[in-house]
Amino acid sequence: MLEFDGSMGEGGGQMLRTALALSAVTGKAFRMQKIRANRPEPGLKAQHLHCIEGIKQLCDAQVEGGELGSSSVEVIPRAIHAKTLSIDVGTAGALGLILQCLVPATLFAKGKVRMQLRGGTDVPWAMPMDFFSNVLVPQLRKYADIDVALERRGYFPAGGGQVTMNVKPKFDLGLDDPLFAILPKFDLQTQGTLLNIKGITHASMDLQSAQVAERQASAAREQLKFGVPMQIQTEYTKTPSTGSGITLWAQFGSAAGMDFANPVILGADQLGQRGVSAEQVGKAAGNKLAAAIQSRACVDVHLADNLIPFLGMFGGSIHAENITEHTKTNILVTEEFLGKKFSLDGNILSM
Ligand code: ATP
Repeated sequence: MLEFDGSMGEGGGQMLRTALALSAVTGKAFRMQKIRANRPEPGLKAQHLHCIEGIKQLCDAQVEGGELGSSSVEVIPRAIHAKTLSIDVGTAGALGLILQCLVPATLFAKGKVRMQLRGGTDVPWAMPMDFFSNVLVPQLRKYADIDVALERRGYFPAGGGQVTMNVKPKFDLGLDDPLFAILPKFDLQTQGTLLNIKGITHASMDLQSAQVAERQASAAREQLKFGVPMQIQTEYTKTPSTGSGITLWAQFGSAAGMDFANPVILGADQLGQRGVSAEQVGKAAGNKLAAAIQSRACVDVHLADNLIPFLGMFGGSIHAENITEHTKTNILVTEEFLGKKFSLDGNILSM
């Protein structure tokens, strides 16, 4: 059984999510102690419990210690099934992070996995669903047919958001199959030419009279004078909690357009916050995207840590904007499960 100290590296929930994902994929059991030891309220929270629950449903895993607040867990996985999962976090637990945990395993199911989730789609300190769908998912379409739909938005604290996702793998090979090595790898080293910028600016209906979503978008545009087409969609929804946010993504390619096998897409986002103007929110998101574009990298700070388990499994190279603590921690966990080492040259990570 693999042993992990949850206080290692970044010391947050991501270490557990990556361990759950790779345990399901590799069939290796693990024990993690001191879970989220570096957070003000350590131990398992609702979002992490639902990640455990999802993996349990997906591969009939045997789990010891997966209770609210517990700081250790032991997981023994079994085969990954093609099935329908239904997860209701009950609060605004981040659905993007639950999917971050479940998606690696779904690529190895023996058929289509359908997921229906309820919780938060846009919550603090987590990947927004628009980032998940428009920045992370395009990287995985070479391995599976994926459709993901944000049916309803849900902000912190009440949540109430709804997402459905279907994943149908394009291959039927285990990690240890000799043919696994011929599956497509990641080749994200050269940024290419900026083709366009897209985005979604959104807010709850009660903020429509103050034009919050539109103001976020105008402030973001001000920071993004790159002379390329820019399309930012505006959305207002009736939600149980008030909230707003903006997610932007920049698409790159050549004169022939985007390379859909290895799409270069940089993302950035910002959530609205009480006491922070819509202009500040949009400006922050725009600035982050501008910085990512100017870095010449192919993978923004958040996509980088998300891609680590996939890069570990399928191989290739990525040029990251930055190597964050989240990325370093994910590297440690991934290397442990896969028994292989990444190499790092500047900000270019390879497996
Ligand atoms: P905790 O840190 O409280 O344990 P956690 O389980 O929510 O909580 P982390 O371990 O911090 O999470 O992981 C957060 C994940 O969400 C990381 O993959 C990070 O890259 C991603 N993320 C955080 N903020 C954003 C953001 N604004 N945009 C995109 N991704 C984000």
